[in-house]
Order: sequence, then C-alpha cells, then structure tokens
Amino acid sequence: MRWILFFGALIGTSICGREKFFGDQVFRINARNGDEISKLSQLVNSDNFKLNVWQSPSTFGRPVDVLVPSVSLQLVKSFLASQGLNYSVTIEDLQIYREMDSIAADFPDLASRVRIGHSFENRPLYVLKFSTREGERRPAIWLNAGIHSREWISQATAIWTARKIVSDYQKDPAITSILERMDIFLLPVANPDGYVYAQTKNRFWRKTRSLNPGSPCIGTDANRNWNASFAGKGASDNPCSEVYHGPHPNSEVEVKSVVDFIQKHGNFKCFIDLHSYSQLLLYPYGYMVKKAPDADELDVVAKRAAKTLASLSGTEYQVGPTATTIYPASGSSPDWAYDNGIKYAFTFELRDTGHYGFLLPASQIIPTAEETWLGLRTIMEHVRDHLY
Ligand SMILES: [Zn+2]
Repeated sequence: MRWILFFGALIGTSICGREKFFGDQVFRINARNGDEISKLSQLVNSDNFKLNVWQSPSTFGRPVDVLVPSVSLQLVKSFLASQGLNYSVTIEDLQIYREMDSIAADFPDLASRVRIGHSFENRPLYVLKFSTREGERRPAIWLNAGIHSREWISQATAIWTARKIVSDYQKDPAITSILERMDIFLLPVANPDGYVYAQTKNRFWRKTRSLNPGSPCIGTDANRNWNASFAGKGASDNPCSEVYHGPHPNSEVEVKSVVDFIQKHGNFKCFIDLHSYSQLLLYPYGYMVKKAPDADELDVVAKRAAKTLASLSGTEYQVGPTATTIYPASGSSPDWAYDNGIKYAFTFELRDTGHYGFLLPASQIIPTAEETWLGLRTIMEHVRDHLY
C-alpha cells in the first residue's frame, strides 16, 4: 500500500494549480500473470485515483478497462510504469466527445453532431451544429476552438458554450432570435492530435502532429496554414519552428476539412476562433498592417463585445487588428475567412494576461467561459442584425 500513499501525496504537488479537465481517458491494461492481477486490483480498489472501472481484473488474458479522470492521468501512468504494467489508451478526450454526444441526444431538435473530416492521426473532427430548421442552408456562424492544442481554456470554453446555447434557447431572447435566423457550427477540438499529445506527452504542444519529410521535427502551426498570404510575415519555413506554416496552404488535413466544409456550405457570415492567452479581441488583418475595408465596423463590434465581456467580472480586453495589436501573422484562419467573404471574422485570446498563461487554473474555466459567452453573443447579435 505504500505506493498508494506515495502517489497520493504527489497529487498536491504535481497536479494542483494545473489546468486539468476534459481529458478523461480510458486505459486498457493487460495483466500477464497473477502478480500483475493483484497489482491491478490494488490500483482499481484505491480511492486515490478516482478510477471508474469498466472491466475488473479477473484472470490474466482478459484486459482491464478503466476510465481515468484527467486529474489522475499522470499518477496512474507513473504507477503503471513503476509496476511494469502494459497499457494502451483506448479512448481519449472522453469528456468532450461524450459531452458532444449528450448535447445532441438531449436536444435532438436543436443540436446534431456532424463529422467534417479527420485528423492526421485519424481522429474524427466533430462539429456541433445548432439549427432550428433542418435542411436549409441558412446564414451561419463558425465557432472554432483548440487549433493550438496547448490553449486548453479554448476547448473548455467551446464545450461550455455548446451547453449554454442549448440551455438558453427559448429562455434567452438573444440566442433564441439568433438561432431563428442563423445556424451555429461549433468545432471544440480543431486539432485533436495535438490536444491528445498535450494531454499525454507535452503539455505545451501547439502544432498538429503531421510528419515533415526530411526533418526530425513534427507538426505544422495550423494557424499559419490557411490560404491567406501563406508563408508571409509571422510564419516560418522551418519545420522545427512553433510557427511553421507547412509545405503549402491547407496541407494540414484539419485545416483543409474546415475549409472544404465552409466553402461547400457557402453561406457563413461569421468566423470566430478561440485562443489563449492575452485577453485580446482581434480582427483582420494579421498578415499586413493595412486596414481592412470593414475595420471600422469590426472595431465597433469588437469594442462592444469586449465591454459586455468585462461587465461580468471586470476582465479587460484589448481590441484591434491582429497585425498591429499582437504581432503580424500570415496564414491565419480569420484572415482566410475574411478574404473569402466572411466579413465578421474575429480571434479571441482568452484569459489570462500571462500570470498562469496556458496553465490557467481549473477554477477559472467557468468564469472565463461565462464572460466569453457575453462577448460571443454580442458579436452574434450584431451579425444577426447585419446580415449581408
Ligand atoms: Zn493560439
């Protein structure tokens, strides 16, 4: 039992203060002899790991399936490694996929799950579609999250937002009227391979997980890979760079899947990408300092959204065009959207301003999602009232 106390004590030092959520996984553990079965029984019978046992240890040869909450992932892995037990991760990101399923199941007349493609490592790219009229190609809003996998508050805010949309429909007049006129498509995990890698191997992984022939370095910055002044300022042609733009526009299947879906649909009016961190609300352009033709209107909308966002708990956002407010960035999604006729294109850089950075504490997830919702809703109301 000593190991249980040991690993239990580690919770306090290694997990607390980290942003651990939405990352539950199912482990399949193979016991090869009686000794391993008894080690596994210790593991699943311990209260320290908060495991949910799907398939209990019985005889060897039969795998044990356990649902491991994200908060225990590192502990369980350390334990398994220390005991020499073999395991594989059979279900990743369980909570986000499960929440998407349950939203679609709970609100079948409003929400549906659409598979728009798959990632480089063949994970599904699921979008939640919110629509009050089936079958029509209505004006639509695209909400994108998690394109940079380490920005976990983005995926979390997105899935919270999905639940908020279905809960508030027919209660909140604003979202009700938005959905009477428009459909909303929400992609909570735009870079699932990177997200799994950030959850399991390297917390600060940003890029996709595609291979780069001729280079030992993995991945492309999926937010430099869009066909908007591709390979221009703020992107690198070095595959080892964090802002590597990839070999050509849309080289990343995650990007191409969204591009194809949006182009085929053809009636998107708004594109919003959620990132962290810095507390900024940005609009085109990122790839040049020249003012966008609609910059004045976008600025008014963004300032109004930032003001509404701040009304909840005083979180201050800076507003402006990407290139001059944060840094030049070519090949980004809002610029692509804007250049392709989607006028209302915005990037949110969510909390905080750098104190915790990417490791925003779990206690800030809901407050961040709640205030962000006010900003998102303000933008969507403007789009609703200014359809073009
Ligand atoms: Zn980002």
